[in-house]
Amino acid sequence: MAAEREGGDEYKMARYTGPVCRLCRRFGDKLMLKGERCATPKCPLEKRSVPPGGRSQRRGRTVISDRGLQLREKQKVRFSYGVLERQFRRFFGEAKKAPGTTGENLLILLERRLDNVVCRLGFADSRAQARQIVQHGHLTVNGQKTDIPSFLVKGGDIIKWRDASTKTEYYKRVAEEVEAKLIPNWLSLDKESMTGRVVNLPAKEDIEAGFNEKAVVEYYSR
Ligand code: SF4
Repeated sequence: MAAEREGGDEYKMARYTGPVCRLCRRFGDKLMLKGERCATPKCPLEKRSVPPGGRSQRRGRTVISDRGLQLREKQKVRFSYGVLERQFRRFFGEAKKAPGTTGENLLILLERRLDNVVCRLGFADSRAQARQIVQHGHLTVNGQKTDIPSFLVKGGDIIKWRDASTKTEYYKRVAEEVEAKLIPNWLSLDKESMTGRVVNLPAKEDIEAGFNEKAVVEYYSR
């Protein structure tokens, strides 16, 4: 039972606001929640991957049931994209109804979220930062101010900064740094005008490896 609570009650609250590196240590995997820092030796997981909590808290977690492993995978994906459980279930429901493989559909839906796209375009270091940028109304999609992080982009959508936002110090820094960012194939970025475009919807191959989406499907299929 201890293992099936993996992820812990503290992580079931509305949105996890604790130290994000703790989540990576909990799952023993790099969830890349801190942007560029995650790829440097400053990442705590480069040094050690001990789960958080004292020895007594960790006792009993060595044997994890199949159900526990499925829960762990589901939580990994959910925390990586910073999605609430309720929203995640809704995405799963949509993925199930769509043609094709539910697990892949789920990952593609998550990847199409506007906060993820903003991060992928290099406008933010992490999805959490991207979510803030979206919520603060700095961006437009096809000319319309869009401040909903869960907004799903589609092929051909144009993501731009609002005029007022281009005067902020944050924008100026991003515009300087974006030159060095790698943009996935399904997106394009005009670095001069800082305008992003959704070239195609993402395919499974475009999504970072490391998720076991089949386990997520199994978790919800019980
Ligand atoms: Fe996870 Fe990034 Fe923190 Fe490393 S630096 S533990 S990958 S959030």
